Amino acid sequence: MWQQSRHWVFDMDGTLTVAVHDFEAIKRALDIPLSDDILHHLAALPSAEAAAKHVWLLSHELELAEAAQAAPGAVELVHELQARGYQLGILTRNAHSLALVTLQAIGLADCFASHDVVGRDEAPPKPDPGGLLHLAQQWQVAPQALVMVGDYRFDLECARAVGAQALLVNLPENPWPELSDGYARDCAELLRQLR
Ligand SMILES: [Mg+2]
Repeated sequence: MWQQSRHWVFDMDGTLTVAVHDFEAIKRALDIPLSDDILHHLAALPSAEAAAKHVWLLSHELELAEAAQAAPGAVELVHELQARGYQLGILTRNAHSLALVTLQAIGLADCFASHDVVGRDEAPPKPDPGGLLHLAQQWQVAPQALVMVGDYRFDLECARAVGAQALLVNLPENPWPELSDGYARDCAELLRQLR
């Protein structure tokens, strides 16, 4: 049961923060087909073009990170887990440096050790479970001992792939019951379920 786990991993954008990424606008600005994955697309470009577009992406994302707002109940949930002495990590497709800026902006910078914030340069992008395996190894626990909290199916799928508990938050209903071990409308409701 996820309520018993002492090792919690959070997606960031849309999970701890209110989702502000406008992926379609980013794709239009970078001339990426709307059906393509941004990071996969950039990885396949000639290196000079990819580098220039990564620079644009980082500066755009820095503005978003500095303006980040906490999702309802997210700060209270993380503080409760921290007070219990649980291990806390972040697994995000954002860059590590931007993840730290975001955590600072929403008042959670003190809750996550820098090396427990796993960004897109430290692990393969979700739904690949590499980031979860990385944290499990770092914490010296089995991947099955982890809880992964996210707002998208990739978060659930990476948990499923290694037998971790998968919790979905911040959607009005659960479109993926077969992929999730728990669901809450937001982190405030998840905190109530935890208690
Ligand atoms: Mg997300």
